[in-house]
Amino acid sequence: MLRQIHIGNEYLPSDFSIRALVILLLFSISVLIFHRYDGLQITLPLLSKNENFGFGSLSNNNVISNVVEQDGVPSVTCQLMDPSGYNYCGLSIELGEDPKIGRDLSVFNAIELNIDIQAPTENKRVRFSFRNFNASYSDPNDFVSLKFNSIKYAPNSLNGSIKVPLNAFQVESWWLEEYTIGFDDAQLDLSNIPFVEIVTDDMKAVGTYVITVRNATLSGELISEQDLLKIILLVWLIVIILLITLQHNKLKTVSTTDPLTGLINRRGLEEWVSNNLPSFSIGASLTMFYFDLDDFKKINDSFGHLVGDELLCRFSEKISSTIGSLPLSAHKYVFSRLSGDEFSLVLKGLNAQQIESLAKEIFHALKKRISLSSSTVNISLSLGIASSDQSASTFSSLMSRADSAMYYAKKSGKNQFKIFDKNVSKDILFRKQVAEKVRTALKKNEFTLNFMPIYQASDLTIYGAEVLLRAGSESLKNIGPDIFIPIAEEFNIINDIDLWVIENTFKLIDANRVYIQQNPLMFGINISSVELHNNYFPKEISKLLHKYKIPPEWIEMEITETSLIEADELSITVLNDIRNLGIRLSLDDFGTGYTAFNQLMRYPVACLKIDKSFVDDLTSTNESRKTMIKAILSIAKAYRLATIAEGIENVEQYKYVSERGCDMVQGYLFSKPLTWDALTLLLAEPKEKRMALIQTNSTSHGSIKD
Ligand code: C2E
Ligand code: CA
Ligand code: CA
Repeated sequence: MLRQIHIGNEYLPSDFSIRALVILLLFSISVLIFHRYDGLQITLPLLSKNENFGFGSLSNNNVISNVVEQDGVPSVTCQLMDPSGYNYCGLSIELGEDPKIGRDLSVFNAIELNIDIQAPTENKRVRFSFRNFNASYSDPNDFVSLKFNSIKYAPNSLNGSIKVPLNAFQVESWWLEEYTIGFDDAQLDLSNIPFVEIVTDDMKAVGTYVITVRNATLSGELISEQDLLKIILLVWLIVIILLITLQHNKLKTVSTTDPLTGLINRRGLEEWVSNNLPSFSIGASLTMFYFDLDDFKKINDSFGHLVGDELLCRFSEKISSTIGSLPLSAHKYVFSRLSGDEFSLVLKGLNAQQIESLAKEIFHALKKRISLSSSTVNISLSLGIASSDQSASTFSSLMSRADSAMYYAKKSGKNQFKIFDKNVSKDILFRKQVAEKVRTALKKNEFTLNFMPIYQASDLTIYGAEVLLRAGSESLKNIGPDIFIPIAEEFNIINDIDLWVIENTFKLIDANRVYIQQNPLMFGINISSVELHNNYFPKEISKLLHKYKIPPEWIEMEITETSLIEADELSITVLNDIRNLGIRLSLDDFGTGYTAFNQLMRYPVACLKIDKSFVDDLTSTNESRKTMIKAILSIAKAYRLATIAEGIENVEQYKYVSERGCDMVQGYLFSKPLTWDALTLLLAEPKEKRMALIQTNSTSHGSIKD
């Protein structure tokens, strides 16, 4: 199975960051308030059964001691026999089983005590100590070596409970001296407490001493306010960094995703290819499939943009599912939409055979009609394929090869694939060379103009002439405008050519002004479809009209019907601007562009030039194509458009079109394209001569039936 590199198009809602920050702010405030009101208070009852702390008695030789526990309240009773020396009695609470390992009590900051002491003397003080074990000075065998963190007080004078802050505890000075402790270790240390002790102060009188511990509960904050603030700050920092990263990723996703199909776009593809190309090696190269739907504009025009968009989505799904179902093992691939109806599939590590079978598989899958919500349509596709190698090791070089192969496939009749090879590169080279020669010919002024007469069909009066460009230079010998004009369009030289033709026609008219006034003549100038996207074009024509003082009604401009396939709002503006200069417009090669007849009204055209192919078909046996001319003629009549039949080569064709109402004719039967001087000679001939010629010719041929 292939592995699609998925670059998701799901992105977070735009107010996500704001919501997250508000929630965090509320949370921070709540936590701080909670903390203020002791919400994060913790306690540790040292007498609690749950904790399993043990109790023991503490006394010296002159004392008999005994610990009893009643209802969880421990008390120690001591009998002092001999008051000489230092005597003591006490209770120890063992927090750990091993004297080396105690509890860390440093989170606590106070202890609540309720201790009762009975003694035969007035001296009823106790010493409350936390004994800390520290490996650097405590000896596990010497119990006294554990650090004494103590406080002394007289519980009976307090009447019950007392809360002592733990920072009131001090390290015993005798202990510091005994163990010669330095300043650093002389501080209160609650980090490792194995024992807590409550011991009488020096006992002086013989008798009974009883210490009862009713309560010893440590309390503290789970976390200090300062630490809490630090943590909140840290959380803010992390969240902000996270949001910035998310935002960044979101922007990146949006900028690399095609919103219509959810595929990655050209930018995303470029990134992917650039990341994957450096690692290419023989057998693991990248292969690019460059798809271009054939005549997609027609679908857009006939069914509307929504249907067009739907088709693009269905198409992308179809290709995705086709590649997804193929048994090519573990090839990374990425399928993307480049623009409009252009898509690209880039795969890693396919061999020549796999490439070809994948291409075939794709065409096979596209044989089935694609169903849309309102209709089903056929998809025709031109596909160019190229693989990376030493001389195509960048994104742009790979893309340009695949694009050229696609162009080749399209030129060779569409609905096919072409793998980049010598022929394609030869074709690229040829086109580059022709483009260069055209540039040179323009610079050296080597072009000339020919004129092909256009006649009134009824009586063969010369109505005008179509201006046709000829390359006079040796280097462009045998290369006609049908070849160099499309190349000039591709290499952006066409505007210079169109303006050159217009200016030189105007110059000629200017030079022959009086003659033309006497012999009225319409000049039909061909305009490239590229100009329909150039809003300066009408202004450039206007300048030239003024410069040479040309009456605009002497000029007609021809645009091909197929150029309307790419027409947009700007194109209609351009056409209207030309029309508003007073120049008539005609639709060239009419019938080949499939303009919906009702769309014709959108364009300010006055004349339809019926394409030569339909005239050619009149003599063929193909009945359906024959009827095209009649259909075009009746449409033109309905929309009040003039008609010219192009490419008339025999009398039967002429008779057929003129008898069915075609206004004008043009073709080799009457004249080939001529130089200006030859045209003037023709104009001097009486039209009767032409009619007679037709009559004599027609007798030798049969006539064309409907
Ligand atoms: P087009 O505008 O359809 O011009 C008519 C073409 O058909 C001319 O070829 C003409 O010589 C040829 N033709 C006319 N009648 C007949 C006929 O009865 N039989 C045959 N076999 N051919 C006939 P050409 O001059 O080679 O021009 C080819 C195309 O190049 C033109 O097609 C036009 O699209 C383009 N072109 C020519 N001159 C210019 C120009 O000045 N500017 C632009 N933009 N395009 C031009
Ligand atoms: Ca033409
Ligand atoms: Ca034509």
